Amino acid sequence: MEAKKMYIDGQWSEGSSGKTFDVINPANGEVFAKVFESSLDDTRKAIAAAKKSFYVTREWRDMDSQTRGDFLLKIADAIEAAKDEFAMLDTLDNGKPLREAEGDIDDGIHTFRYYAGLIKAPYGGVYDVNEGFGKMHSYTVHEPVGVCAQITPWNYPFLMAVWKLAPAMAAGNSIVFKPSSKTPLSTVKLFEIFDQVGMPAGSVNLVQGPGSAVGNELGENKDVDMVTFTGSTRVGQGLMRAAASNVKKIGLELGGKSPNVIFADADIDGAVEWAMIGIFFNQGEVCSAGSRIIIEESIKDEFVKKLAAKANAMTIGNPVNNPDMGPLISEAHMNKVLSYIESGKEEGALLVCGGERYTEGECAKGYFVRPTIFDNCTSDMKIVKEEIFGPVVTIQTFKTQEEAIALANDTDYGLAGAVFTSDLTRAMTVIKEIRAGITWINCYNPTFNEAPWGGYKMSGIGRELGIHGLEEYQEVKQININLTPGVVGWYEN
Ligand code: NAD
Repeated sequence: MEAKKMYIDGQWSEGSSGKTFDVINPANGEVFAKVFESSLDDTRKAIAAAKKSFYVTREWRDMDSQTRGDFLLKIADAIEAAKDEFAMLDTLDNGKPLREAEGDIDDGIHTFRYYAGLIKAPYGGVYDVNEGFGKMHSYTVHEPVGVCAQITPWNYPFLMAVWKLAPAMAAGNSIVFKPSSKTPLSTVKLFEIFDQVGMPAGSVNLVQGPGSAVGNELGENKDVDMVTFTGSTRVGQGLMRAAASNVKKIGLELGGKSPNVIFADADIDGAVEWAMIGIFFNQGEVCSAGSRIIIEESIKDEFVKKLAAKANAMTIGNPVNNPDMGPLISEAHMNKVLSYIESGKEEGALLVCGGERYTEGECAKGYFVRPTIFDNCTSDMKIVKEEIFGPVVTIQTFKTQEEAIALANDTDYGLAGAVFTSDLTRAMTVIKEIRAGITWINCYNPTFNEAPWGGYKMSGIGRELGIHGLEEYQEVKQININLTPGVVGWYEN
């Protein structure tokens, strides 16, 4: 099995140690690919290459925005031509159903095209300023930040990479990118395309390996001007500390424990289906998952009955064959999810359905967990407080709108949330009170390239996508021009 290489300074490399790591198919536990692991030395070489590209050769940074945009369009076209291969790679190493992976690739293609256009939009402002020092003209320009390190998780391997790479590249930065070592393959393929379209040497670099070594250096190294990270809150906190080394700019997209609030006047069948999308899409391995259903007491029993019937009817199997749910990412993660389920039972929550590993037929050796619903939950339970990152949802009830809002906000996280009701005034009031960055009314999970994505509270700092996503990768410079050059007369002598 030929191992996949890293990409540093425009060259494919086996790295200084020649060490490789395995990539495992979670549907059957088998190793199906190997990847060369970057050492500290390789990571430093990648950072040095990005630094040289940004500060010395400057080809990407100084390229006019039209030509840079054309590169992004060529990249989008090349991804589109290889769409099936990309989707299969994400399905094989992540375990997501193929049709969901195909959706991710489509979204990624559009993200490149969106930023190819957006980079040509007008930027900056002209400011009418006071004349204390004479007549001045004041305006702003946006400039790339410099060397950007980007680190992504395993749950949306291709899409999380594109959400970071496309805007950072559009803005003219040089990049060192590190995907999760569990799902590195679609990123390798993406860098093959960067190579094919002729991205200037050093402008995009790919390092591989576990976060503790490679990722930490990306946070600590003083030649990195910015670090953006999508992953767990715990690692994000560590990166924030590391980034203090040279006061790097930082972007953090972290975990969540998002409320899905359902009122008695909602369309129940619609709410049931959206709740399923909210918690069981991508096996529940979604940062914005609606993992806490908070429902008006009078309809709870009917809702839970309908939700459980649908959850029990979900197909589970090899993700290549498009079941409703594939396996979880790894054996360790499956065990973590199962241990949360045990803790739910121990703490007195009522297990309505699921609650166990699924090993039927072809699933015998994979890391599958049945869709799980816990009723009678309270805010102090571990399963209600902590991000499980699997197909497990908790049910809590409320009697008043105030109670619903209080329960929704009773969390350290603030990534997402939803409200289901047919009362427009209530919908607008409740959604405004939910302390989260991404919210939905009468739906759950739709995401758009044009709109900003990011969290409040411990769910992160900054925004991806939309115009905000581009501005994250830009510095803003104020330029003031004296329109009456000469002596000001401030000092008497
Ligand atoms: P993780 O934090 O374990 O790993 C994320 C990335 O960080 C990986 O590439 C990993 O190798 C790297 N890493 C690990 N230790 C590191 C260190 N010390 N220094 C630097 N990098 C390090 O997260 P995960 O398990 O891959 O992903 C799941 C988490 O991601 C969940 O908490 C989920 O909510 C979050 N997530 C958030 C969003 C969002 O948009 N807010 C999107 C997707 C996933």
